[in-house]
Amino acid sequence: MTARIGVLALQGDFREHLRMLTQCGADGVKVRSEADLSAVDGLIIPGGESTTIGMLIVRNGLEAPLRAAIGAGLPVMGTCAGMILLASEVLDGRPDQLALGAIDMTVRRNAFGRQVDSFESAVQVPSLPGPPITAVFIRAPWVERVGDRVQILGTVVTEDGTDRIVAVRQGNALATSFHPEVTDDVRFHALLVDMVQEAS
Ligand code: GLN
Repeated sequence: MTARIGVLALQGDFREHLRMLTQCGADGVKVRSEADLSAVDGLIIPGGESTTIGMLIVRNGLEAPLRAAIGAGLPVMGTCAGMILLASEVLDGRPDQLALGAIDMTVRRNAFGRQVDSFESAVQVPSLPGPPITAVFIRAPWVERVGDRVQILGTVVTEDGTDRIVAVRQGNALATSFHPEVTDDVRFHALLVDMVQEAS
């Protein structure tokens, strides 16, 4: 059965995610309402601006349905701003920053600093077969704390030599600091498709 996967299409680079889903053989659909959400077997929260996406989630009446769907085990993936929205705690966010709590983690917004606003790095993700991921970071968050149930999928060494967590999974929730959707590497999207197939 073709996996029907929604991409939250309120703001941000949702088109790039839809393209990746097509490449994976999944049926990608835009999600803007509760009705849209109830018709999908998995969901992607894209990169963009987490404060704007969060505000639009609330305004579109999607906060409670999203929390319920995630709580019921809907497979989800968040990239960059999407990672921030899936976190349980956000540092350097706005006071009203939305955190859906899909993954027990603390993320820091815009963590890599202004001088390194955007960069590319090879990230080893041992659980994904093949070469390292070419990870594109754009004003990206990193993960500062994870709970016991969180699996760390990938890290990157920052300018000061510290290792920072940039890809995680907890149960059916997956998040990356970087943007697989702006590359041709479909492995993260394929992993989400697999999670959806297994869940349904
Ligand atoms: N800095 C953005 C935020 O806080 C995320 C950037 C991105 O998604 N590329 O939402």
